[in-house]
Amino acid sequence: MEFTLTEEQKMVQRTIRNFVKNELMPYEQQVLRNEREGRPGMTREEIKDLQMKAKELGFWGINTPEEYGGADLGPVMTALIQMELGRTFVPFSFGGSADNILYYCNEEQKEKYLLPVINGDRRSCFALTEPTAGSDAANIRMPAVKDGNHWVLNGEKIFITNGNEADFAMVFAVTDKEKGARGGVTCFLVDRDMGWRSEYIQTMGEWGPASLVFENVRVPEENILGELGGGFNLGMKWIGQGRWMIPARGVGASERLLQMGIEQSKSRVTFGKPISERQAIQWMIADSAVEIEATKWLVLRAAWLAEKGKDNRHMASMAKLYGTNMANRVVDRVLQIHGGMGYTKELPIERWYREMRLWRIFEGTDEIQRYIIARNLLKGHVKVGELMD
Ligand SMILES: Cc1cc2nc3c(=O)[nH]c(=O)nc-3n(C[C@H](O)[C@H](O)[C@H](O)COP(=O)(O)OP(=O)(O)OC[C@H]3O[C@@H](n4cnc5c(N)ncnc54)[C@H](O)[C@@H]3O)c2cc1C
Repeated sequence: MEFTLTEEQKMVQRTIRNFVKNELMPYEQQVLRNEREGRPGMTREEIKDLQMKAKELGFWGINTPEEYGGADLGPVMTALIQMELGRTFVPFSFGGSADNILYYCNEEQKEKYLLPVINGDRRSCFALTEPTAGSDAANIRMPAVKDGNHWVLNGEKIFITNGNEADFAMVFAVTDKEKGARGGVTCFLVDRDMGWRSEYIQTMGEWGPASLVFENVRVPEENILGELGGGFNLGMKWIGQGRWMIPARGVGASERLLQMGIEQSKSRVTFGKPISERQAIQWMIADSAVEIEATKWLVLRAAWLAEKGKDNRHMASMAKLYGTNMANRVVDRVLQIHGGMGYTKELPIERWYREMRLWRIFEGTDEIQRYIIARNLLKGHVKVGELMD
């Protein structure tokens, strides 16, 4: 067994760490100030400039196939990169990427949807959740009814990330009620100018998802993504990809937070001694360090399985369940170590605290991850103590 990174992986890790430190972290105060005053932390132009700087370093389309101009660095490298990006709350992601399911576009659709998203000219959103179906995504109801060579969509999607900014939505609708999720759900590429409306939903986080309203929105037949009836599988592919990226980010954020906690504990004196000398505080530091390390290896194993083309779904669920809960525990402890200051908006801890709470909900709640893990074990898909290959 080999636990060391390759020279290339180490180089990428160092480069991104420097990029985060030199290019992203300087924006942190601005982000906090803007958000306090009700504006987005960064403008689109600022993010684009940073994406161009990253491109000069070779970081453009980190998961995008080379034929589309991407670096296609693979799952392990992506996990390492996400861990580094997680060290700041500055809302940045590399340019040159598209949702994994947009690669199912046919040639004409690629020109209109995939390529403009990769180039940053158009924005997409993933619209599966409905007011009556979130975890139980197989139970979505939005009907798509055939009318000539169009499909007519009616209904509402809710909590859609980027739903208010997107130029088009990947919308999952029911094309065959009898079949439902087993061949009766189809994914449509629906341009905003086909007539859907969106509205922000205020959340405890710093950015809002949106609700999307469809009233007799007519979508041409040629805008079906993939196969008619193949939408549910596409939806699960999109969700599956994000599962281990979230705890990867959690590793970076938690490491940074823990470092803040360590520094604060050494400098804060109460009753004549730094609080770092109190066992109550030391245990918070020790437990956090252990849990971060455990998450790192769960994430890397999930990424490694994906890299080897193996089924990583069980491991990805374990990484998401453990890693997102870990991050919530670490931020809570670090907030506690900072006392009253931890609760203020002067420091980024409360911001992270609010952001991390979401991680236990979207892309599969804690309960759904537990359900998946337990079902795999109970049905024998995965065996306890199975020999590792
Ligand atoms: C900020 C934000 C961004 C989002 N972005 C998107 C997006 O871009 N696209 C999109 O389609 N969706 C998005 N979502 C929706 C998200 O995926 C759902 O909120 C999530 O899947 C949970 O669904 P729900 O809210 O309907 O809760 P429910 O499914 O109603 O669950 C309520 C509670 O019951 C629990 N529960 C449900 N079923 C079971 C069970 N069988 N056993 C035990 N407990 C159970 C859940 O874990 C949860 O605690 C986003 C949500 C948020 C908050």
